Amino acid sequence: MSPALPPAAGGTAGAEDTLSVPVTAVIPPTTIDALLDRYEAILFDAYGVLVHAGGPLPGAADLIARLNREGRRYFVVTNDASKRPDTAARRYQRFGLPLDASRILTSGMLLVPHFAAYGLVGRRCTVLGPPDSARYVEDAGGVVVPPDERFDVLVIGDESGFPFMEWADAALSSLFEAIDAGRDVHLVVPNPDLIYPAGSGFGFAAGTIANMFEGALALRYPGRADLRFVRLGKPNTPIFEDAVRRAGTGRVVMIGDQLETDIKGARAAGLDAVWIQTGVTQEIPATTPEHLRPTWRMSGLVSDVDHPGHPDHPGMIPVVR
Ligand SMILES: [Mg+2]
Repeated sequence: MSPALPPAAGGTAGAEDTLSVPVTAVIPPTTIDALLDRYEAILFDAYGVLVHAGGPLPGAADLIARLNREGRRYFVVTNDASKRPDTAARRYQRFGLPLDASRILTSGMLLVPHFAAYGLVGRRCTVLGPPDSARYVEDAGGVVVPPDERFDVLVIGDESGFPFMEWADAALSSLFEAIDAGRDVHLVVPNPDLIYPAGSGFGFAAGTIANMFEGALALRYPGRADLRFVRLGKPNTPIFEDAVRRAGTGRVVMIGDQLETDIKGARAAGLDAVWIQTGVTQEIPATTPEHLRPTWRMSGLVSDVDHPGHPDHPGMIPVVR
């Protein structure tokens, strides 16, 4: 099903050619129509593919309406753990995307199996995040408490929609207090993303906040390699496995904008993957091993770009760095 890809380190081209034809140029382009012919189900990442923080991306509303009309199988597979599926669906609908909540799989939903697997049901949890992040934790069986109280589990749901610095400082202080007292605290972040596209620019995502806590923990407790967050969402495979199970077919392709989450995760789950160039990842490094490379690439959801083609490589597109 996957097209043959050239070797990772520049193929047979000389050094000069390798520089003028980055690896991106030899990943074959595709279109939504071609994908619908080839695959039985499509998984979409949300941010950088269908939407940015402030609205829809070009072609997204028409595409979702078309998929609904044609009865296609598709799901949105997102690391966003700040909104439950029904909240997210209402927001997409305000953006003009006729998306039903049952189509939306979030990393927040992974807390249910995670809490069960780690025996966290009934434990005291502090959640940095808006009310929907706390509800994900309650759905998983956690008892949500304020960040300045004793807690057994720290969940980072998001970085906005609550008094971030105040809560983060309080959670850090409670965390240090627990560790100093020799108590175990479980650390988990459903969304490992570091940044997200915000329309006119970018914003920090929950994974960056986890990194911030880990930096503080490493400073105060050097040598405690165990004081790390468990990261649940893409690129880890459970969310892809759930999507494939719901799709009811193995002929599934993932469309995402980030190499490190969407493409890496889809390939690890045995799926083909499309890198769409409307989000975070701007180029695929030439050193990227083949199993992490996208199967296809698209400049955007709307295939109205008349690609110029590379003079020395017909059908391949030079990418300006
Ligand atoms: Mg994205």
